[in-house]
Amino acid sequence: MDEEFFEDLEEVLISADVGVSTVMELIEELEMEVKRKNIKDTQEVKQVISEKLVEIYQGADELDDNVALNIQDNDLTVILFVGVNGVGKTTTIGKLAYQLKSEGKEVLLTAGDTFRAGAIEQLNEWGGKRVGVDVIKHSEGSDPAAVIYDGIQAAKSRRADVLLCDTAGRLQNKVNLMNELSKVKRVIEREVPNAPHEVLLVLDATTGQNALIQAKTFSQTTDVSGIVLTKLDGTAKGGIVLAIRKELGIPVKLIGLGEKVTDLQIFDPHAFVYGLFADMLEEDE
Ligand code: GDP
Ligand code: MG
Repeated sequence: MDEEFFEDLEEVLISADVGVSTVMELIEELEMEVKRKNIKDTQEVKQVISEKLVEIYQGADELDDNVALNIQDNDLTVILFVGVNGVGKTTTIGKLAYQLKSEGKEVLLTAGDTFRAGAIEQLNEWGGKRVGVDVIKHSEGSDPAAVIYDGIQAAKSRRADVLLCDTAGRLQNKVNLMNELSKVKRVIEREVPNAPHEVLLVLDATTGQNALIQAKTFSQTTDVSGIVLTKLDGTAKGGIVLAIRKELGIPVKLIGLGEKVTDLQIFDPHAFVYGLFADMLEEDE
């Protein structure tokens, strides 16, 4: 474990979007640990790097992470999806609908992105055609809060188990979008006790450091309860979620690994942090 090894690791982690200060902190601790334990082989050092990164992710007080979605047993669960355009909200809703339906749940979708052309049809395509669940929709340009309201009424009268709410993501008009999202959230809070049960912020792993800004913006208005990190099937590693977790305390709950309905998985911090630097060590062996 020479100087060069730590320099390589530093480079690999920074390019995986783990912020510079976090990487510096890690490398320093790692060098000490390696010296202290007199670690010489890569197998052992892998273990230590993983442990340290999971520690950084989970924080000093080792919050035991409850990544499972807050799904009510015998009551309606409402999940609100937020995030900028193109991150994968609609696709993730389709995937989650598929999963929940496979578990025997009655799922309903609401097309709250009334802004982007084709967004309603896209949700319909995923929900109605691919997964076979109903989509409550209004026409393009209508008030998203009104669609969500109708979705809730439909979910209640059909005694559905889960209502997944899609929303718009145009950040060009941030103030309007945030007002719209607060209004949607207020409607949900008013119509269903203790709802929304989850507010999931969808982040695209390929956006790098910008994801932190998105997390700050959305958590101010919508009280985000968890993150869905998408597009991890590409080259992006999504190391930025370490910073998001550290700064905002928001845990990652799900990860997206492709464009098929089955490409959604529960977040595993150990496997995730290992993925941040695994390539480097595999090349070495
Ligand atoms: P939205 O604007 O947030 O609703 O994003 P969409 O759901 O429309 O997704 C935008 C694009 O990203 C689409 O082409 C999706 O197929 C793609 N996408 C979403 N999730 C993933 C993922 O996990 N992996 C990959 N490779 N593509 C994804
Ligand atoms: Mg969409």
